[in-house]
Amino acid sequence: MSQARITNLLNIFITLKKKIALFVNFLNKKKYLFYFFLIVVFFFVYAVILNQIKLHTELKENNLNSFLKSNEFNNVKNFISENIKSPYKEYNYIVQNNDTLEKILKKYNIGNTEINKIASAIIKKKLSNIYAGAEIKIVTKEEKETNKIISLAYSVDAITSVEVKRSKDKFNVAKIVLKLKKKEIVLSNSIKNNLYSSAIKAGIEPNIIVEFANIFGFEVDFQRDIRTGDMFEVYYEQYVDDENVVKNTGKIIYASMFVNNKELSLYNFKYDNKEGYYDVDGKSVIKTLMKTPINGARLSSSFGLRKHPILGYNKLHQGTDFAAPTGTPIMASGSGIILRAQKYKGYGNYVSIKHNSTYITAYGHMSKFGKGIRKGVRVNQGRIIGYVGSTGMSTGPHLHYEVIKNKKRVNSQRLKLPSGKILNNEARNKFEVDRIKIDVKLAELRRIK
Ligand SMILES: [Zn+2]
Repeated sequence: MSQARITNLLNIFITLKKKIALFVNFLNKKKYLFYFFLIVVFFFVYAVILNQIKLHTELKENNLNSFLKSNEFNNVKNFISENIKSPYKEYNYIVQNNDTLEKILKKYNIGNTEINKIASAIIKKKLSNIYAGAEIKIVTKEEKETNKIISLAYSVDAITSVEVKRSKDKFNVAKIVLKLKKKEIVLSNSIKNNLYSSAIKAGIEPNIIVEFANIFGFEVDFQRDIRTGDMFEVYYEQYVDDENVVKNTGKIIYASMFVNNKELSLYNFKYDNKEGYYDVDGKSVIKTLMKTPINGARLSSSFGLRKHPILGYNKLHQGTDFAAPTGTPIMASGSGIILRAQKYKGYGNYVSIKHNSTYITAYGHMSKFGKGIRKGVRVNQGRIIGYVGSTGMSTGPHLHYEVIKNKKRVNSQRLKLPSGKILNNEARNKFEVDRIKIDVKLAELRRIK
């Protein structure tokens, strides 16, 4: 190394040392400013990283959820199969509104002759019903121009699925019905807020709850009779699959309520091909008249003296008002013959039914009449005679319901209604035997629980 080079290096070294000294000096003077600057930079970097991480996780979660269901998943599968050069492809298609099998198959470039063959095969077996939201598994084989169907699988209802398989140039259609086992179950609970929520808590299926409420509809006013702590019990049929998953429900065999310090137990009984519910004494639960000829209504004004909402002065309200949305169906509270179905005074659209020589019921303010409801027509209990409205002298949609006993309007809610038929003779004997069988089974099922 030459002398000049060493001097040069030495000079650079000295300048560098001076510069470092200057910088250290600067730091000593403006130390705090520098630290502050460092902290700002640190926080900025931190914030950016944090945001990135968050964004990434959210995306990942969203992606994973939709990914498994989406067509993208199928695309990936197809991508893999394309790479291994397989002509077979599998798709899971979710049926959309207004889809037909024909439309769907066209999306996968299936030829018309092929589509027609499949369509006629499944129509012949009455298995062509597909519904929106259902999944169709499709396996195709790629050909030169159009694709071929290898197999097709879909379900037509909760327990029936269909498999279409190609065999040479024909299609075999197989209907697969899930084998369900009938199971009997007893569930009970005390009522906290209302029957519905307490029954759901007990694990009872919604359609069984509705059925239960219908059975007791003649005896219990679910809006007003029920108190916290009242009890109910229901013994009914369930249909379960191999994994013990409930796929369907059957009938209610026994139902019991403890309301108003009274226990009322009802038994399903079939005789002469007629099925109904009877109490321990063999008395039918169906009364000649219903207390509330409307479902899901709120009693808004009871029978008695009140300030009339339109006329303003005190007047005897000679009926019971049930508030309900316009269009809510109104039922005939008992079987009988229609006396009137027309516009009538302040009642607006009005229907009256003569049930027997003692009782007439009347319904006012309807928005419209039920199908086929006119004077002289015979109706059965529960038939829809009209729909809630606000016609006539009315301040809002409600049903004005009157019970007329021997030509005098009476309070329908206080009425001791004559009960339906009582089983006699042979029917009664059979009922007693059936009832004991039900009681024995009930005790057994309660113990299992
Ligand atoms: Zn009224």
